[in-house]
Amino acid sequence: MIKKTAEFISSSRKIVVITGAGISTEAGIPDFRSPETGLWNKVNPMITFSSWGFKLRPKAFYRIGLKILPSILNAQPTLAHHFLARLEQRNCLSCVITQNIDGLHQKAGSKKVIEIHGNLRKGHCIKCNKEYTLEEINLKIENDGIPPKCERCKKPIKPNIVLFGDPLPYEDFYKAEKGLQECDLLIIIGSSLLVYPVADLPHIAVDRGVKIIIMNLERTPFDKDATLVLRNRIDETCREINEFLKEPFTPQ
Ligand code: NAD
Repeated sequence: MIKKTAEFISSSRKIVVITGAGISTEAGIPDFRSPETGLWNKVNPMITFSSWGFKLRPKAFYRIGLKILPSILNAQPTLAHHFLARLEQRNCLSCVITQNIDGLHQKAGSKKVIEIHGNLRKGHCIKCNKEYTLEEINLKIENDGIPPKCERCKKPIKPNIVLFGDPLPYEDFYKAEKGLQECDLLIIIGSSLLVYPVADLPHIAVDRGVKIIIMNLERTPFDKDATLVLRNRIDETCREINEFLKEPFTPQ
């Protein structure tokens, strides 16, 4: 299956990759749903990381969020992140559609990244939308505690991430759909494919009859539609695929 995956990658020119939290677990960032290690075992993200939860209890959001934040900000890209960046450099990858907010694709050098659930680089006031950088938000927390508040209207500042119940950024979702309408191979890495509306996106490739490769430890609702399912650790899988590529890159 690894050899076949390498062949599919080598013969494709418009690969689209969808990534989820599973690609970053080996960088030390817990995902939501992995048994035992997933965040879901510790908090209920549907409350803590929801738009209504944030409005009702912004302090709780920051209390829990700040415990996870250092692991995200200090994390380094994994072999899989580097692998995707190298595919982009070889001009065979159209885009990475990531559900992650950790910025690791960009840290690895990827440029064509659609951050469909936003990122932590900035935040905004929930009332007047005034923008603040992560550094400004951190300074406010240091000086005045949580939640950080807008200097104009004293309302909480929310990071620019999509919480459960928030609409997705329209333009990004449109770009993601377009990528899938034109791709010649879809690779899905480290996602349970249970979070909507992203979990609907692979249907575009399924309907077009495009080859789909899934790399995930657990089963996903799209396994039955996939050409290949690689149920091993993602870094290990990418390392093995790389060895079968015509011009393998040197893993970092
Ligand atoms: P998820 O937690 O629902 O699913 C992650 C999947 O990855 C699981 O099915 C698990 O089996 C698999 N997995 C974990 N580690 C793996 C490994 N080393 N090798 C192979 N498979 C592995 O994640 P999701 O589908 O991305 O949805 C959760 C939502 O929460 C998304 O919006 C996500 O972006 C967000 N989230 C993001 C981060 C981050 O930015 N790193 C972390 C946690 C949650």
